[in-house]
Amino acid sequence: MLGSGSKGNAVLVESGDTRVLVDAGFSARRLAELLGQVGILPQSIDALLLTHEHSDHVSGVATAVKRWRWPVYATAGTLRGAADLLGPATTHAVAPGDRFTVGALGIEAFRTSHDAQEPVGFVATSLYSGTRAAVVTDLGRATDEVRRAVERVDVLVLESNHDEGLLESGPYPWHLKRRVAGSHGHLSNRAAGELATGCLHRELRHVVLAHLSETNNVPAVAHESMQRVLRRSRFRGALHVAPQHGIVGPFGDVGGLGGQLSLGL
Ligand SMILES: [Zn+2]
Ligand SMILES: [Zn+2]
Repeated sequence: MLGSGSKGNAVLVESGDTRVLVDAGFSARRLAELLGQVGILPQSIDALLLTHEHSDHVSGVATAVKRWRWPVYATAGTLRGAADLLGPATTHAVAPGDRFTVGALGIEAFRTSHDAQEPVGFVATSLYSGTRAAVVTDLGRATDEVRRAVERVDVLVLESNHDEGLLESGPYPWHLKRRVAGSHGHLSNRAAGELATGCLHRELRHVVLAHLSETNNVPAVAHESMQRVLRRSRFRGALHVAPQHGIVGPFGDVGGLGGQLSLGL
């Protein structure tokens, strides 16, 4: 996780030599800096997947696709919403439910409930190790489609945006509180716990809480809320919180073919 929250989002997913970035919500200069911190050249990214066109997910796109010629995979709605930023970039329209391959990664897009044109989340599967990682942020509620998509993942990057009490008593104007808490807004700590409970299984090794609000949440509160849920289950993996400013990871497979594979950062 290169950074996560309303000021910018980017997740690096890696399998063998294949690298894709999910969202580019930091300036190109900052993205290069973040990738540099983990020893990766931006030019070596094979594809950019966009979840939706909100600025905290696309603010670096215009410069990045021009400078590094990343091909872009997104839904038709997101491509429309981000058209101004994409310029002459090579784009691939994917429909929710579609599966496609980028190098050694199988990718599946699934619909999310959010106030953007055609938002999705992604599940990436390493074609070497079978390790699966899901990125599920920016959703007002968990639908059956979301639950099905994250059923058998090894790494779950899950939105835990706000504490319901902190949002209610916080400084946001009334209409914004309604938007965040609404079915096309963002997932609360409690709702994240419910979704995680539904997809706990033996192989789930990492739960990474993401897209935390800096105004309506506290990392320790989100962590504790999920920890309570996980303690009641047979979850034997690790729980992490992704910060807005800074890198956390990698998460994923370190076994596989001789231990050289990793998925996620
Ligand atoms: Zn967002
Ligand atoms: Zn959004």
